[in-house]
Amino acid sequence: MSNTETRDLFVTGLRNAHAMENQALSIMKPQLSRIEHYPEIANKLEQHIRETEGQIGRVEEILAGLNEDHSALKDMALSFTGAMAAMGHTIAGDEILKNSFANYAFENLEIAAYKSLLTIAEIGGHNAAALNLQANLAEEVAMAKWLDENIIDLTKKFVSLRQAGEKAKI
Ligand code: MG
Ligand code: FE
Repeated sequence: MSNTETRDLFVTGLRNAHAMENQALSIMKPQLSRIEHYPEIANKLEQHIRETEGQIGRVEEILAGLNEDHSALKDMALSFTGAMAAMGHTIAGDEILKNSFANYAFENLEIAAYKSLLTIAEIGGHNAAALNLQANLAEEVAMAKWLDENIIDLTKKFVSLRQAGEKAKI
């Protein structure tokens, strides 16, 4: 593959990552605004929203270094999907659980995307970009690990709130 083709692949991957991170914000922010009874999840979401804003900055920095800007249009389409997905969970009583499963899936999507982008960066010799991508990857891995470790406690808390009659609370 030519250098130009590798570069194009890298830029496309970066634009997709930028859209993915904006989608992440559009998934997490509505969740955070609805949580009342799960402060540990609210705190973690708040932390990861801040991290995600930093990740967007790192991706933009890489794109700027390549003299490329990000695709606002594509970001918009994906953000809309995220908002719709969040709305779909609102009515169900087990919203907090479904959100947690979806967040776990999304973090793993992000992990896969950054591992792939890091591989392309390596092939293309984009060493400075790799540092930014590794920083993003490390935050996604940490978030996925936290969600994984908390699913049992979250479920126990959900069941006990249910038993106490707190039906639709999240
Ligand atoms: Mg992210
Ligand atoms: Fe993430």
